Amino acid sequence: MARNNTLKLKFDSARKYAPAPESRSAAKIKDQYELFINGKFEKPLGKKYFDTINPATEEKLSRIAEANEADVDKAVKAARSAFGVWSKMVPKERGKYIFRIARMVQERARELAIVETLDGGKPIRESRDFDIPVVGNHFFYYAGWADKLEYAFPNRNVQPLGVAGQIIPWNFPLLMAAWKIAPALATGNTVVLKPAETTPLTALLLAEIIQEADLPPGVVNIITGAGATGAAIVNHPDINKIAFTGSTDVGKIIQRAIAGTGKKATLELGGKAANIIFDDAPIDQAVEGVINGIFFNQGHVCCAGSRLYVQESVYKEVVRKLKDRLETLIVGDPMDKNTDIGAINSKQQLDQINKYLKIGVKEGAEMYQSSVDLPKKGFFCRPTIFTNVAQSNRISQEEIFGPVLTIQTFRTDDEVIEKANNTPYGLSAGVWTDKGSKIFNMTIKLRAGVVWANTFNQFDPTSPFGGYKESGYGREGGLHGLGAYVTLSNVV
Ligand code: ADP
Repeated sequence: MARNNTLKLKFDSARKYAPAPESRSAAKIKDQYELFINGKFEKPLGKKYFDTINPATEEKLSRIAEANEADVDKAVKAARSAFGVWSKMVPKERGKYIFRIARMVQERARELAIVETLDGGKPIRESRDFDIPVVGNHFFYYAGWADKLEYAFPNRNVQPLGVAGQIIPWNFPLLMAAWKIAPALATGNTVVLKPAETTPLTALLLAEIIQEADLPPGVVNIITGAGATGAAIVNHPDINKIAFTGSTDVGKIIQRAIAGTGKKATLELGGKAANIIFDDAPIDQAVEGVINGIFFNQGHVCCAGSRLYVQESVYKEVVRKLKDRLETLIVGDPMDKNTDIGAINSKQQLDQINKYLKIGVKEGAEMYQSSVDLPKKGFFCRPTIFTNVAQSNRISQEEIFGPVLTIQTFRTDDEVIEKANNTPYGLSAGVWTDKGSKIFNMTIKLRAGVVWANTFNQFDPTSPFGGYKESGYGREGGLHGLGAYVTLSNVV
């Protein structure tokens, strides 16, 4: 378990020792970025561009090419042609290329972290200590698998799927790119990847790295654009596999689009994780875990612990401690190393969160927000707690994808299992207790792709990740992540 990947939100007192904010000048963002197709940066055929902005300041960062269907076709053709070379390459050689990418990510880690924070709004401490190191780890991990696939699938004939179309969201932009690209390459597939329209920059820097690492042209193509570009990838007839991380709504559109086409898919969609505190739990540790579980990355996390269930006898203590802790969270400039909660990724997402705050109040829940002053410019939201929540409330059933926690109570194990499982989702869950037997019981009965016990938000390239129910299907990460990119035939 990669313990040091856990977010540690700092206490206010740390501000006294604050070093200067990270310097924007360390990131050399170009005025304009083109599409990365067949190893070269190419202008979009439709000559269209869109702006990417810094959500903390609303200032334009760069102009980004918008790929149309003809560009997507060009990228898929490049990937198809490269597939012949890449899939037949000696596996050890493939591994060397992926290792090279991993090392170059490490060498450019500081710049990548700054660009991630500028483009997406997440605190620099998270980009620097979590996102970018884990990106490097993913490439290292899957590089190691490239020449060991016969150990992953003994006595099986293992074949790559072909061209993978990969569509990723804006909450962990470079990490999602690594998460998708690394296992696809290790297993001999080629890739057409589209980052989200609000956070295209680090994927484009990764394109530069891939070019510099001298991968055969067309093995990885990175094309930018919005939903229409994503749809063109999904609908392209020469794509063999779709790997999508994003909203459940778009996941359903993709499922419908590929029905009957024979395309394989892994879909990692929304979540509404239950975080459960039993009365025997170490309360301070649990409160800290709950804070991390919901406020990490502004709550823009599909596995965020957005529903807290507290056993009745410790409810008052937990709520009091959570409210106290809320007041210590620093909300503001994501480039400041002490910031706990940065900018909401976009105006659209802020509107969505604010809509849910109104819904919660209307549903009769009690809203508590920290009293922190928000910056005048940019998209920010106060960390928010709702008490007096009913299980059927929309704020308890629907994914808000922001720094908003609902709290309910429970008396018995059976009651909390029933409540925890009672949403359309099933991606993750957290359990806080002193009893091993309780953890065991919960992990069996909770319908969630990952259950964290006395911890939360632990991510590691070796662990499979994915959901039940409307949280999607397929697993990414670890050995299972390799399985998502190969076809096996049995050898008897
Ligand atoms: P969110 O709601 O969190 O913004 P989305 O699911 O809308 O997440 O977006 C995730 C990714 O899916 C983005 O890269 C986006 O451009 C892409 N996308 C949006 N609509 C479609 C679509 N109809 N087909 C394929 N990709 C899409």
